[in-house]
Amino acid sequence: MIKNKALVVFSGGQDSTTCLFWALKEFDEVETICFDYGQRHRIELDAACAIAKTAGVPFTLLQMDLLKQITHNSLTDSKIDVEENKPENRPPNTLVEGRNMLFLTFAAIFAKGKDIPNLVTGVGQADYSGYPDCRDVFIRSLNQTLNLSMDYPFTIHTPLMWKSKQEIWALADELDVFDLVRTQTVTCYNGIVGDGCGHCPSCKLRKKGLEGYLGNEKVRR
Ligand code: ZN
Repeated sequence: MIKNKALVVFSGGQDSTTCLFWALKEFDEVETICFDYGQRHRIELDAACAIAKTAGVPFTLLQMDLLKQITHNSLTDSKIDVEENKPENRPPNTLVEGRNMLFLTFAAIFAKGKDIPNLVTGVGQADYSGYPDCRDVFIRSLNQTLNLSMDYPFTIHTPLMWKSKQEIWALADELDVFDLVRTQTVTCYNGIVGDGCGHCPSCKLRKKGLEGYLGNEKVRR
């Protein structure tokens, strides 16, 4: 087993990109795996591939568009509009049911084949968006299940689990990739790179964190 090797579940967004550079600091060898689940905006996949290239890490793209056949949400179905505001009593319609469980499971199968015990994912529950599969309890449960299912000692690392968006910007800056994260990642539900459309829920969250961070920082280069 290659103890110092990690596989990052990578989407080309702010969180997973910050995780990628965190992993590069923590581990000797890092790879990325990215999922094409039929998301509306192909630009995400292009961004992910380009960032992996910049980081100098292997990039594997896995086809998972079968998800589209069994679940409907605004990220994969262009007929459903992204809700501008978070609903009160249910998760937002950007939730792709089962996505993190499936992605981490496929990532784990891929990782075991390469004898990589560390999996890194950018999920978090500090700025809880209502996605049940971003919660710590779920990740810990899946970690156990994966280990039992493959009889292999995976460790799922979630460096952003308890960080707010503001703290995630701070971490990107600490890792010296603030500008890269700001200009090259795609977080926007409308598929606009960098600062995005500015009004979808994801842009609002990202912007709030960025303003909080820039406002608090004493010296801005
Ligand atoms: Zn947006």
